[in-house]
Amino acid sequence: MATWFGDRPMYIGGEFVPSESGAWMDTVNPATGKVHGRVPAGTVADVDRAVKAAAAAQEEWGAKSVWERGALIRELAERIRASGDRVLEIESADTGNTIASLGNDITLASGYLDFVAGLGIEIKGESVPATAENIHFTMRQPYGVVGRIVPFNHPFCFAGAHLGAPLIAGNTVVLKSPDQSPLSATVMAEICDEVLPPGVVNIVSGEGVVVGDAIVRHPQVPRIGFTGSVPTGLAIQRSAAEVAVKNVTLELGGKNPFIAFPDADPQAVARAAVSGMNFSWSGQSCGSTSRLMLHESIHDEVVDLITADVRAIKVGDPLDVNSGMGPVNSQKHYQHVMRLIDSGIAEGARVVAGGAAATVPGFEGGFWVQPTVFADVTMDMTVAREEVFGPVLCILKWSDVDEVMTMANQLDMGLTAAIFSNDIRTAMNAARRVESGCVWINGTGRHYMGTGFAGWKNSGLGREECLEEVLSYTLSKSVHIIL
Ligand code: NAP
Repeated sequence: MATWFGDRPMYIGGEFVPSESGAWMDTVNPATGKVHGRVPAGTVADVDRAVKAAAAAQEEWGAKSVWERGALIRELAERIRASGDRVLEIESADTGNTIASLGNDITLASGYLDFVAGLGIEIKGESVPATAENIHFTMRQPYGVVGRIVPFNHPFCFAGAHLGAPLIAGNTVVLKSPDQSPLSATVMAEICDEVLPPGVVNIVSGEGVVVGDAIVRHPQVPRIGFTGSVPTGLAIQRSAAEVAVKNVTLELGGKNPFIAFPDADPQAVARAAVSGMNFSWSGQSCGSTSRLMLHESIHDEVVDLITADVRAIKVGDPLDVNSGMGPVNSQKHYQHVMRLIDSGIAEGARVVAGGAAATVPGFEGGFWVQPTVFADVTMDMTVAREEVFGPVLCILKWSDVDEVMTMANQLDMGLTAAIFSNDIRTAMNAARRVESGCVWINGTGRHYMGTGFAGWKNSGLGREECLEEVLSYTLSKSVHIIL
């Protein structure tokens, strides 16, 4: 039975408010295709209101000690951890991600906030021996108001986790929720309201080209943190550059290689390849290792193992704890995923699992795709080159190391990569040669807090999930005391 989540306002200056225009946007349950709630269709004026509220709150927030800010961020983490039931149903229903997998989003968001809360004391400057007689040092200060724009795949986790770095550094935040899955951000607003002074975090909803763009262009927003697609990342850089010199972090898309060497255990490769595709989120993860490059000596065995595992995935209601995969996030995204599946078939890839839309009894209006595996994929195929951001694994065969490294590096994205080999030299040579910001050796998917996550090439700019992220929300100043 689908839940009706009602009208869920924005959060500006500590108040829950509609848009100044009075307009609302429907949000659709991807499992049913039916509207299950509404959020305000924000406007440029709403963004201006939110930025002014954030700017008004910043001086007091920035004047708190790092210990005081850290304590409030830890409290935010605690409330997120306790929010389980409040958020899991709404997030699963609004994104299509399986409820069984969503506990991890809460753990990640709260864990990262705890981690960042302890880094306040690391926002340090340096003393510099420039002259013998004077004192020279650097200090770090907050930017002021930070704009954060998040995508549809893990909206609660991204909204929560990435408040930490700007806040501990003394900034206030205007956050924009994604229009396909905006509901869980309204729960985040309730949690922020319980913990933080008014205006420290403001959450607006509305179309990216209106609300997102207005945040980017606002003269009082010098610092933007964006997670989303490559085309939007480029648009944000263009918009920002048209109005001012702004500091922009971009966490963008990937088409990530997974290279399995001949000495790798076929069973371990197959298990990791399926898990690295994040089918429980319908493959909708930037880090999914969606191009599996198998050495010819293990190719057939691994393909058979993967085929069996993927065919066994139970596609069904994301709110059912027994479902292994839900729908894709929206009708628009369904059309994108199906276009790429059709292109794979038309261009000669061999379907070994899925390859079509799925039917789920009782959910006929939803956006269902079968978990799909293509074998015999080559790098000239569209499905090997474009980010599907869906439940589609492409398998490529190789015989020569230089050939596979060329295949791995020939796209203009470079987010993650996985290397499977039991020989440390082989694995490390490949890890060095692969053009990606995050490389797993004999693993996939996991993020290790503190080590940083970032894309190379068109997959991004700036590092998150580490001290560097916190420091990136500060401006450095050199001070010279002339004695
Ligand atoms: P998207 O279309 O780029 O949208 C992301 C956010 O940007 C949404 O809130 C969107 O608003 C907003 N937006 C759209 N146009 C804008 C503009 N001109 N100016 C400012 N904001 C704008 O991405 P998505 O489809 O939601 O998410 C999927 C993509 O995100 C994939 O490419 C995936 O790989 C990437 N991703 C990357 C990471 C990472 O850490 N590297 C993590 C997760 C996802 P609307 O929703 O209202 O359009």
